[in-house]
Amino acid sequence: MKDLYMRNNARSGEILQEIECPLCGSQNYKVEYSQKNFRFVRCNECGVLYQNPRPKKEFIQNRYDDKYFQYEIENQKNFFQLQIKTFNDCNIEKLLGGFKGKRILDVGCATGMLLNHLKNKGAIVHGVEICTQSCRYAYTEFQLTLYNGTLENARYESNSFDLVHFSHLIEHIEKPVDFMKEIYRITKKGGYILVTTPREDTIWSKLFKLKWRSLIPDHLVLFGRQHLISLITMIGFEPIFIESWGSIPIDSKLKFLKFLTDRFAKKFDKGDVQFILAKKA
Ligand SMILES: [Zn+2]
Repeated sequence: MKDLYMRNNARSGEILQEIECPLCGSQNYKVEYSQKNFRFVRCNECGVLYQNPRPKKEFIQNRYDDKYFQYEIENQKNFFQLQIKTFNDCNIEKLLGGFKGKRILDVGCATGMLLNHLKNKGAIVHGVEICTQSCRYAYTEFQLTLYNGTLENARYESNSFDLVHFSHLIEHIEKPVDFMKEIYRITKKGGYILVTTPREDTIWSKLFKLKWRSLIPDHLVLFGRQHLISLITMIGFEPIFIESWGSIPIDSKLKFLKFLTDRFAKKFDKGDVQFILAKKA
């Protein structure tokens, strides 16, 4: 259901524009996946996969509407469980010396379940969310402090967060390099970031090709492991924990293999979703 909705989320009437590589600025690419509504190309310079052409800014923002909010509501518990799992896997609570009194930002906080959990553990939490309906829900339900818009427009103070979390967010960002610079600016020295995003350089994307679950119009950039690590380290963060999970989607004909392939993917770090904990040195 989720994939079906997300896959069809490209809207009629959107004005597209040709762009340069969002990571390295090159204009050389080869077309890798072409659908009726959208196209992904691979940069000939840095090798990253990105949507090109893609909708102009205002059309991208318009996608995060009531329908998107319904999708967030339907999936909020699953997303929360996965996020808690990454928190436990990388031991972030211990690294921070507990959450109490720590300043934590969740960029793309959706309905606010994770922030509410951290608030209940004593953290001072802030959220950024582009979808107005999600913000309204998070505020009404959990009384969270939120900014409804983009991270850049929120204008947080420099060196102000112990932890910045962004899960399934960076692949939706038009300018990931500028975004990461802003993340770096607002993270405290010695603070941490937690990043979760699809991983493109695995057998799963090659196996499913156009049907790969992350190849959807909402995703603007799809990172291989090396692209994500290069970006994070170029900005000035030091990766200290990496893992991946996920393989066959639940609605696939191959789903009878899913139990085994999911275990394989997690154990050998071959999953199609990647997670990195990094530190601002
Ligand atoms: Zn490039």
